[in-house]
Amino acid sequence: MAVLEQLTSQNAIELENKYGAHNYHPLPVVLTKGEGVYVWDVDGKKYYDFLSAYSAVNQGHSHPKIVNALINQAQTLALTSRAFYNDVLGKYEKFACEFFGFDKVLPMNTGAEAVETALKLCRKWGYEVKGIEDNKAEIVVCKNNFHGRTTTIISFSNDPVARKHFGPYTNGFIKIEYNDLIALENTLKNNPNIAGFLVEPIQGEAGVYVPNEGYLAKAKALCEQYNVLFIADEVQTGIARTGKLLAVDHENVKPDILILGKAISGGVYPVSAVLANNAIMNVIKPGNHGSTFGGNPVAAAVAVAALEVVRDEKLAENAFQLGNLFRSEFQKYIDNSHIVKLVRGKGLLNAIVINEDEESDTAWNICLALRDNGLLAKPTHGNIIRFAPPLVMTKEQLLDCVSIIIKTLKQFEK
Ligand code: PMP
Repeated sequence: MAVLEQLTSQNAIELENKYGAHNYHPLPVVLTKGEGVYVWDVDGKKYYDFLSAYSAVNQGHSHPKIVNALINQAQTLALTSRAFYNDVLGKYEKFACEFFGFDKVLPMNTGAEAVETALKLCRKWGYEVKGIEDNKAEIVVCKNNFHGRTTTIISFSNDPVARKHFGPYTNGFIKIEYNDLIALENTLKNNPNIAGFLVEPIQGEAGVYVPNEGYLAKAKALCEQYNVLFIADEVQTGIARTGKLLAVDHENVKPDILILGKAISGGVYPVSAVLANNAIMNVIKPGNHGSTFGGNPVAAAVAVAALEVVRDEKLAENAFQLGNLFRSEFQKYIDNSHIVKLVRGKGLLNAIVINEDEESDTAWNICLALRDNGLLAKPTHGNIIRFAPPLVMTKEQLLDCVSIIIKTLKQFEK
């Protein structure tokens, strides 16, 4: 079989099963094309994408402006490594710093790499600026976090599936409850070796857990009080997803270190970034950290285009309004539903909790039925379904999606 021959769904699934490591459990649908809020399968069936590649495709599939930036730059100069300067990276760095309000950016590729970068930066700041004794630095993290898949990051996960048999684990992390300011204060006040507090403004993978209003602002104030860096992992919540450019903007919080990934590229290329002001970022010196592909010309051109789309098409405003509409329409249904317990979220990062325990397969079966009805979503944990469409959605499309979801859920009401 020629590699690029058109495959049936079954062929494509069999190939992945046979030749690909089984590190995912995809919904059985084989996609071949995407445009805006839609994707199509190999049989030509059209779906609303309600996952957006875990919020990487905020600007919609194959946004022409972003794709053109990719093509033009790839045809001109794709990769130099950082052994030499190139004429795109600096322009992107200036643009990104001004866009997010920081002095400097450190470019990487994936979310996990950016988190690793932030952890290294935080530790180095802890030793060289805060004056923590060598090898004693600690970073506070939250229970049920998701920050990626590296050995260090899974060391402070509490998901047994992500951790088991991947030890020995990296030391230097203290885990506290999410959304618990007393736990944070008690931890900070008793430990002068703490360099940073790493937090997701909304815990996405855990099931779209939105902390209490004021949590982020008060956590930031505590970090300031104890001279600890507030590190916001906005890989999933950032770039307009929650109805503001950053989720921390809902509480006017300026992180000391900001971690971005996913939609900073509009989903067409792996781009991630760590931003901080000079007092922190200047601890990084040549040779301390790097990546062959980080900040390459294609990534830089794509990221500028992707951020311009967010700004010019007012995606944060759209996500804010459509998110309110989504939750209020949904709430009307939930008030009389037995199968759905609640809807929660901010902007267009939402989830519903199914009235079953985590081991139940109802959420999976609902996602299969949603697929049959033309909408793609995926459970996160056994009983939670995340709803995160591209932010270029119109009000009419959103209402159409709400009716598809409600029609589908009604099939499952007892
Ligand atoms: N941080 C958060 C908050 C995430 O949601 C994710 C991915 N779901 C990551 C980090 C890791 O990103 P990547 O998969 O690009 O490594």
